[in-house]
Amino acid sequence: MIYLDHAATTKVDPEVFAAMTPFLQDEYGNPSSWYKLAHSAANAINEARERLAEYVGASPREIYFTGCGTESDNWAIKAAARAKADKGRHIITSQIEHHAVLHSCQALQQDGFEVTYLAPDKTGLIDPEQVAQAIRDDTILVSIMHGNNEVGTVQPIEQIGAICRERGVLFHTDAVQTLGKLPLNLADMPVDMAAFSAHKIHGPKGVGAMYLRRGVKLGSFMDGGGQEWGKRGGTENVAGIAGLGKAIELLQEHGEQDNERITALRDKLLEGIPERIPHVIITGHRTQRLPHIASFCIRYIEGEGILLGLDEEDICASSGSACTSGSLEASHVLLAMGYPHEVAHGSLRLSLGRKNTEEEIDYVLEALPGIVARLREISPLWADAKREEEV
Ligand SMILES: *Cc1c(COP(=O)(O)O)cnc(C)c1O
Repeated sequence: MIYLDHAATTKVDPEVFAAMTPFLQDEYGNPSSWYKLAHSAANAINEARERLAEYVGASPREIYFTGCGTESDNWAIKAAARAKADKGRHIITSQIEHHAVLHSCQALQQDGFEVTYLAPDKTGLIDPEQVAQAIRDDTILVSIMHGNNEVGTVQPIEQIGAICRERGVLFHTDAVQTLGKLPLNLADMPVDMAAFSAHKIHGPKGVGAMYLRRGVKLGSFMDGGGQEWGKRGGTENVAGIAGLGKAIELLQEHGEQDNERITALRDKLLEGIPERIPHVIITGHRTQRLPHIASFCIRYIEGEGILLGLDEEDICASSGSACTSGSLEASHVLLAMGYPHEVAHGSLRLSLGRKNTEEEIDYVLEALPGIVARLREISPLWADAKREEEV
C-alpha cells in the first residue's frame, strides 16, 4: 500500500506508540492525584507541554492541551468572540479555512456576530492588504489559517498578524498543517492564538493543543476540574498527550531532514503529473507552499473516479476536503480560488509523510496516466472537449 494522504491523518510512529502505552497500563494514575502512582502521568504532561512550547517558541504556560485541532479552533474563535463582544461583533476570516473555523464562524453568525469571508486569489493567497481594508472599528477577531490543507498555500500570517496587532484586533491562526512543516517561533510572531493537532504529525488521534498568548484573556472551553488552569476541565488524555510530546521530540530530531526529502518528492509529483497527463492544473501557490502537499485538478473527470482507480492500485489519496469527499460537492477551497465546478470536481491531493519513498512516487507517476485515460474514455466532458479541439 502507498499512503499519500498525510494531510488527512498519519500513522502513529512506533516510538510514539511506545511512549503512550505505559499510561494505558501500569502508569494509570490520575495526574491530579497526589500519590506516587500519579507522578509519572503528571510529569508526562509537563514534559509534553514543555516540548511543544519549546518547539513552537512559546512558554509552557501558553500551551493548553485539547481534544483535537477542531476543538482548538472552536475554543479560540468562540471564546475570543465572547470575550470581546462588548467592543464589537465583527470577525474576519477567509473562504478557504478548514470547516473547524468556517463552521465556528457560522455558529457565531447565528448568535448575532457578523463575519467577513475574504476571497483568496487564484493561488489561494490572502493579501494582507485585504485584511487591512476589511478591519472596522467593531472588528474583534481575525482568523486566517497558516497552511491550507487542500492546496498547501501558506499565508503571510506575520504580515496579517502585524496589521491586526496595530489595529488592536486579536489574531488566530489554524496551524494544524504547518506544525512540523514550517518553523514557528510564536514569541516573535504577532499571533495571539494558534491551533495544533497530534494526528497530523505521526501522533495519536484525539489530542490537540492551543497556543494562547500570555495576557490574552479567554473564557474556558469546558468547565470542570481545574485541569489546564481551569480552562479545559476533564481528566487529561495522558497517553495521548505523552504521544504528542514524543511526536514533537521526533520532529526536533529529524523533522528538517524529513521535510527536505518530502519537498523533493512533492516537486517530483508537481512536475511529473502534468508532464505525463494532458490538461492538468496544479492548484495552490508554486513557492508559498507546504512541503508535503501536491494538489491538482485533472480536467474532464471526477475526483471520485480517480480515487477509486488509485485505490484499486492500493494508493491512498484524497480529493477535495476529507469532509466533502464521499459526497459530490466540489471543494469550497477550489471554488473560492475561482475554479469552476466542473474543474474543481476533478481535484486530487497527494500529501506526503516521512515514510514515503521515491519508488512509491515513481509508481504513482506510472499508474496515474492509465487511470486518467480510462476515466476520460468514458467521460462525456472529455468527449465534448475532444470534439471542440477537432473543430
Ligand atoms: C486536520 C485539520 C484540522 C482538524 O484537526 P483534528 O485534530 O482532526 O480535529 C483543522 N485544521 C486543519 C487545517 C486541518 O488540516
